[in-house]
Amino acid sequence: MNSFAEIIATIKKYDKIIILRHQNPDPDALGSQAGLATTIRQTFPNKKVLIGGNNTEGLKWLSTVQEVTDEDYKDALVIVTDTANQPRIDDQRFDDGAFLIKIDHHPNDDAYGDQLFVNIDASSCSEIIADLIDSSDELQLTKEVAYYLYAGIVGDTGRFLYPATTEHTMCVAGKFIALGVDTAAINNKMNEVTLKQAKLQGFIYDILQIDESGAALAVIDLDLMKKLGLTQEQANSVVSTPGRLMEVRSWMEAVQKDDGTFRMHIRSQGPVINEMAKEHDGGGHPLASGATAKDLDEVKQMFEELKDIVNQYNQKGE
Ligand code: AMP
Repeated sequence: MNSFAEIIATIKKYDKIIILRHQNPDPDALGSQAGLATTIRQTFPNKKVLIGGNNTEGLKWLSTVQEVTDEDYKDALVIVTDTANQPRIDDQRFDDGAFLIKIDHHPNDDAYGDQLFVNIDASSCSEIIADLIDSSDELQLTKEVAYYLYAGIVGDTGRFLYPATTEHTMCVAGKFIALGVDTAAINNKMNEVTLKQAKLQGFIYDILQIDESGAALAVIDLDLMKKLGLTQEQANSVVSTPGRLMEVRSWMEAVQKDDGTFRMHIRSQGPVINEMAKEHDGGGHPLASGATAKDLDEVKQMFEELKDIVNQYNQKGE
């Protein structure tokens, strides 16, 4: 683990900096990436700072990427935010630079990078970027930087609802508000769904299988997406919906990809689910993880495993 001071010293050394984050980015991935890029650009205008990866259609309002060439990677400092493991970095040329830094808030199972800073108690990677800026006399926290970081925190805390939201999270968000960030506009944007997504949110309750333990599963296969006229990205975005049900404690949403495999989103309000995710080519936080199931049988098997986890948790009377 490195200190913020060591990371900032490295940032100061490089003229060219490429900032990456994980594939299928969420607001925290984009917010931490764009927030860090913007503070570096605004503090050190002579540095070339590039934002890499692929664009996500539904989050273009928050941040978009730039073209990063092989030449750009030469002699560059590469910083990866919000990404636990190397295969998930959105741009597999991440190691082609001169130096690599990891900044993250997931369990540090894959401690990659020449320098790294990981704080699993942070609500979001955006909160860590705010702390990095706060630790420095030079890096500036402008309204624009705060805009990106606020969106990241709101995204990963489910608008300050999830248990990872701490007093410190609120203090950091308070600083952003003091800078004049239009928090209501961000909240509205993040709350927005298309009519099709809203219909899916209702429909998901119809297709949700709820076990008596409190484990639940929703399968959204290619046929269903076609019928509802939804993209996979839109289907992925309704993952938090079952969590509102009193009957549900931990749940999985299985979204089928074009190759027939399923992207598994696993969420929980108590039972720890990331070890199970790791067994299925995934990982993440104790209460929010992702994984892959090669077919419907593996989806069903994961549901059985989830039931066991929730039953064990219930038996402990927690
Ligand atoms: P998702 O369900 O895609 O929103 O992911 C929930 C959390 O798990 C996020 O923090 C992701 O970064 C993490 N995650 C998702 N998929 C994986 C994976 N294959 N490996 C490691 N972490 C993952």
